[in-house]
Amino acid sequence: MNDEKFMKIAIDLSKKADFPYGAIVVKDGKVIGRSDAKTKITKSIFDHAEMIAIEDALEGKSLYGGLKGCTLYSSCEPCMMCLENILYSEIDKIVYGVDIPFSSIYYHHIEDFSVLDLVKKIKPDLQIIGGLLKDEALKVIMDHNDKIKKEDEKFIDVAIDLSSKSFYPFGAIVVRNGQIIGKSSDKVPIKETIYTHAELIAIESAVNNIKDYLSRGNLHECTLYTSCEPCMMCSEAILAEGISRVVYAATIEDSNNYFIHEYPVSLEEIVKRSNCQIKIIPELHRDKAIKVFKERQK
Ligand SMILES: [Zn+2]
Ligand SMILES: [Zn+2]
Repeated sequence: MNDEKFMKIAIDLSKKADFPYGAIVVKDGKVIGRSDAKTKITKSIFDHAEMIAIEDALEGKSLYGGLKGCTLYSSCEPCMMCLENILYSEIDKIVYGVDIPFSSIYYHHIEDFSVLDLVKKIKPDLQIIGGLLKDEALKVIMDHNDKIKKEDEKFIDVAIDLSSKSFYPFGAIVVRNGQIIGKSSDKVPIKETIYTHAELIAIESAVNNIKDYLSRGNLHECTLYTSCEPCMMCSEAILAEGISRVVYAATIEDSNNYFIHEYPVSLEEIVKRSNCQIKIIPELHRDKAIKVFKERQK
């Protein structure tokens, strides 16, 4: 079946992508747009697989009605942003694998609800086939999740190791695309300032390291790994710089029990009140971070 053949291509692309999603646009049995066409297109934080495939297929033509007679194959149900462009482009048919609620376990946030029924009301003649090869597409997402878990374990250890070597037993790093782009200092502070928290130093060094400097929100798609749950001051910096994920080891309570007093306002509570979609992985390798606190107590 042709749909299956093309869906396999979309799934293959999802395996090779930075994020585990792939999409193609097909016209008259030919692939005319692919989600791995990123190099041809200006990189953007909005470059979802479907958006790249659509832009690639348009080849500079106007979006409006530009893809009449085309089918979009996507390894995952398209999000609202992509659906808007699917409608503008007047694509005839969408075939996708995994439903959105399954993919929403990912740190780069996708809403965990479907709006396809609303789209269907607006455009009743749009054909939608969901769940095609969904197990294969989901496996790519699960494998990606495992990879992220392993990466989290590796990088939280780097932050904890930094905490063991630092003047105060706290360490933090900022990671983007598997690269450490900012880290807290293991040097004795020249003078005591109120900014010496590990997270602030790591965030500041990451912002200084990246070239596309904005005034705020520089650190999209970045993960902050910190040996201890961030305080309110550091949470402000996390929100302001648009960090997408935070992985921490010890809790503020642990810091209070074993080392130094901190005010117990949790990042989880702060994020709940904000409009930010920050994924938080708490208490990863917490015991290792507590061990560092205990050693300093001696
Ligand atoms: Zn999307
Ligand atoms: Zn702090």
